[in-house]
Amino acid sequence: MSFNNNNNNNNNNNNKAETESEIVAAQDQALQTKYYATKILNTEADSKCRLYQTLDETIDHLISACVILTKEQYIKRHDRVSAQLHFNICKETRVKLYKKHWYEYVPKSVETSQGGKVTILWNQQVQTDRTIPNNKPDIIISVDEKGTCMLIDVAI
Ligand SMILES: [Zn+2]
Repeated sequence: MSFNNNNNNNNNNNNKAETESEIVAAQDQALQTKYYATKILNTEADSKCRLYQTLDETIDHLISACVILTKEQYIKRHDRVSAQLHFNICKETRVKLYKKHWYEYVPKSVETSQGGKVTILWNQQVQTDRTIPNNKPDIIISVDEKGTCMLIDVAI
């Protein structure tokens, strides 16, 4: 795969070439983390995370294992991914949206498609007979004419 072309909108998800090359660099563990600077570049002596100095600052650590980032940033990331998914589901099911782009959009608790056949719930508790601790899926798609419900829980 080459990122040297100037056509930035040449891929399916409209990522710019720079963004895509950053993602590939992250996958290859080749971003400027302190671990990379210490072990590969030999430009630093300390490889520990600059937020919480107990573990090595690797890509994996930053993406999913940093206790400092867990408190807020990972939740924000989860919510933004879920919101984009919600936005796309709304578009597919012809819900009238008040924003053109997913990143401007804040999901409403209940959205209904034009014609009222599909209801999309955001972060709503499901009523159950027995007590279930995690009964609040991110998205519920209810299709009236089929009598079906799809529960979506985003794990990121
Ligand atoms: Zn950390």
